[in-house]
Amino acid sequence: MFNLNNILRENIKNLTPYSSARDEFQGEASVYLDANENAFGSPLDEPYNRYPDPLQYNVKKRLSEIKGVPVRNIFLGNGSDEAIDILFRSFCNPGVDNVILVPPTYGMYEVSANINDIKTKKVSLTEEFQLNLEGIAEEIDQNTKLIFICSPNNPTGNSINRDDVETLLNNFDGIVVVDEAYINFSRQKTFIQELTEYSNLVVLQTLSKAWGLAGLRVGMAFASEEIIEVMNKVKPPYNINESSQQLALKALANVEQVNNWIKETLAQRDKLVLSLKDLDFVLDIYPSDANFILVKTTDPKGIYNFLVQKGIIVRDRSKIDLCEGSLRITVGTPAENEILIDTLKNFK
Ligand SMILES: *Cc1c(COP(=O)(O)O)cnc(C)c1O
Repeated sequence: MFNLNNILRENIKNLTPYSSARDEFQGEASVYLDANENAFGSPLDEPYNRYPDPLQYNVKKRLSEIKGVPVRNIFLGNGSDEAIDILFRSFCNPGVDNVILVPPTYGMYEVSANINDIKTKKVSLTEEFQLNLEGIAEEIDQNTKLIFICSPNNPTGNSINRDDVETLLNNFDGIVVVDEAYINFSRQKTFIQELTEYSNLVVLQTLSKAWGLAGLRVGMAFASEEIIEVMNKVKPPYNINESSQQLALKALANVEQVNNWIKETLAQRDKLVLSLKDLDFVLDIYPSDANFILVKTTDPKGIYNFLVQKGIIVRDRSKIDLCEGSLRITVGTPAENEILIDTLKNFK
C-alpha cells in the first residue's frame, strides 16, 4: 500500500518551508512595505518591481478549467524539468535511494538523478518500445522511490500501454511519474483524470510543446493534494516569474489556436511519413503519437551531417540502445517539411 510518509525524506517531512512576504500577508493593501522591493516601480512598463504570486493561483485556476483538475492538485514548475528535480529532492535520499528508468527515454530523468546522487536502475523497453513489467518488478527494492514512464515516449514517439502503467500504479509502493509532455498529440487518454484513483500517481505536462511556449518555462505536475503540498514546500518560493505567469495566462486564452496547430501538426506528420517512406535510405518509420518521428536509416551520421550542411538540424539518436540507425525529426511547418524532404531527396 502506498503511504506518502513512508517514501518522504525525513528532512523534508520535518522541513519548515521558507515563508515569504507574500505568504505572510495575503489580501489587498494600499501600502506594501514588507518585501524590500523598489517602491518607485520598475524600469519597464509592467510592475515587475513586485514579487510574483508564489503559488501562481491565476494561472492554475485557468489550467484547472482547461484540464478539469482542481487547483489543489496542480503544481507549476520552471519547466517540467524543475518538477522532475523537485520529485528527486522530495522523495529520494542522496546516496541511498534509487529510481527506475525505462530507456530509451527522456534524458533529463537520468541527469536529474545524477545531480541528486540517486542511483538509476535501467530496465530497457521491449523491442516494441513497451514496458518490461517483469524486469521492472525484479529491480524494485525497498529503496526504489520513483519510476519514470514517458508516454508518448521521447525519443521513440509511441504511447506506453495504459494497462501496463496501471499495473505499476497498482503494485508499486513508490511514485509512478507519467510524463505526458506530448499528450496533446496523442490518441491516448491522459492520466490526469485518474488522480483520485491512484494516490501514487504524478502526471507531468508542459506548455513547452503543443502550447508553443518553450521559452516561458512553465511545466505542470498533477498529483494528490498531499504530494502537491510537499512539492510546494520544496520548490524555490518564486519559481515562476511574473512575466511568465502573465504571458502563460494570456496564452491559455488561445486554446483554439493551439488545437488548430495540433491538427495541422498531425496532418503534417502523416504527410512527412509518406514522403520519408519513398526514400531508399529510410529503413523504418516508427508509429508516432507525438510531434516528432523516429526514423531508422542506413546512414544516420551521413544524413545528419548532410542536413547540417544544408542548414537543417535534426536529432541524431543512433547511439542510443534500441534506436540504432535512427534520427529523430520534429514536425515543422509545411514549408519546413517540404525543404527537409526536397533536401533529403538529394542525399547521395
Ligand atoms: C520536452 C520535454 C519535456 C519538457 O520540459 P520543459 O522543462 O517543460 O520544457 C518534458 N518531458 C519530456 C519527455 C520532453 O520531451
